[in-house]
Amino acid sequence: MNRMHANPTKPATNMISSLQYRGVGLLLMAILLLVAGGCDNKAELPGDHKLVVIGFDAADWAEIDPLIEAGRMPVMERFLTQSTYGTNMSFTPLEKSPLIWTSMATGLRPNQHGIGGFIRSSGDGLNTARDWRAPAFWHLAGEMDMTACILGWWITYPASPINGVLVSDACSYTTAGFRDPAGLVRPDTLSAELTALQVDYRDIRLEELGRFIDLEALVGHEEELAAELDQLRVFIAGDKSYMAMARHLAATGDFDVFSVYFRGLDTTCHRFWGYHRPEVGPGNHSEVALAVLGGVVPAYYEFCDELLGEMLALFPDDRTVMILSDHGFHGKRQRRGSWVGGVQAHRPQGVFMVRSPIHEPGFRFDRTPIINVGPTIFALMGLPASEEMPGVVITEGLTSNGLRYIEQLESNRVPSYKPFAPAQDDSVSVEEDAEMDEAIMRQLKSLGYVD
Ligand SMILES: [Zn+2]
Repeated sequence: MNRMHANPTKPATNMISSLQYRGVGLLLMAILLLVAGGCDNKAELPGDHKLVVIGFDAADWAEIDPLIEAGRMPVMERFLTQSTYGTNMSFTPLEKSPLIWTSMATGLRPNQHGIGGFIRSSGDGLNTARDWRAPAFWHLAGEMDMTACILGWWITYPASPINGVLVSDACSYTTAGFRDPAGLVRPDTLSAELTALQVDYRDIRLEELGRFIDLEALVGHEEELAAELDQLRVFIAGDKSYMAMARHLAATGDFDVFSVYFRGLDTTCHRFWGYHRPEVGPGNHSEVALAVLGGVVPAYYEFCDELLGEMLALFPDDRTVMILSDHGFHGKRQRRGSWVGGVQAHRPQGVFMVRSPIHEPGFRFDRTPIINVGPTIFALMGLPASEEMPGVVITEGLTSNGLRYIEQLESNRVPSYKPFAPAQDDSVSVEEDAEMDEAIMRQLKSLGYVD
């Protein structure tokens, strides 16, 4: 456990939680020492255990492959030559993003981690960070005395204190005008400077949309398509906001675990797929709308490629990086004579990519069940999976060293990480934040996620 890391700003508000961590952290270390002590020829994970996880909701090889072929995603094209990658098979029947991302973060199934979707399974309001019954990889990082910087991951509002910085997913709903509700960011002391970096969608000018839409075809039809363009602005603003905060935070210290989740690709697919693949969807789009908006989806992939480039540039070239999506996308489906969207527009095939010292560069495998992502993240941090995790560490593309290391970890699973579930933090009263709840519900409804 002797590792070097820069110490990011640790304000006083975080002191109490750090002390709590130290207490439980010893317990975790004791468990891991028992594990390590019980085996000969202990395999070591090469490198420094530092990890970057980047999430692009709904990213799909069916779109990425042809775009790379056309030279439109140069960053990912290069990244793949350094990575092991394949299809990340999501849960079927198709499930909602919050549940899937929580499963990837914990390695557990929804009935184990407590997040069943957008709405609580009891029907009693939206799921919040208080519903987590198991620790995410960033909580365990804290137990290991590693620092974490986590931005935008699903169901992290109200943000709970971690050993580092947590920027909750609720920032996506606060870009229109400055809002700084409690619980958006931990530690609280960073809230004002981070939320000030948020991009207001109303500041995204028409010229900036020119890379996503056909501005010439738009002339004379601005009114007719105003609502669509505003939606596009909201999606871009959300992703740009998290990118700006990531850039800012990466400059403050070299966190051991750094993760950003970008949601805009999923929302863009939900809203603009019908223009991208009019032959598939319910149609009824005007000629003008098709001309103006037909290129939004591929242009958003290009935008994601740029975000990826910016992210990678924040870290050394040999940093372990994992890129994930929770599912792919194939647009609305016809069920019993009517068109259905929401999760039915997803397809199970998401993406998994990893660049690390124990993975073969440029190795493409077929597919892996998404429940294997959690144990794989844990392994790259130097942690064994728990016996409660139904998945296994992904072994595709491992070097011989990597294989030895993973076999070692897998034969020494710990019983459970549940004791390290985030402590209930009642300092923020989310239930009373009706404005936030409404903003979230509005967006979920507009995308067909909830009725
Ligand atoms: Zn999703």
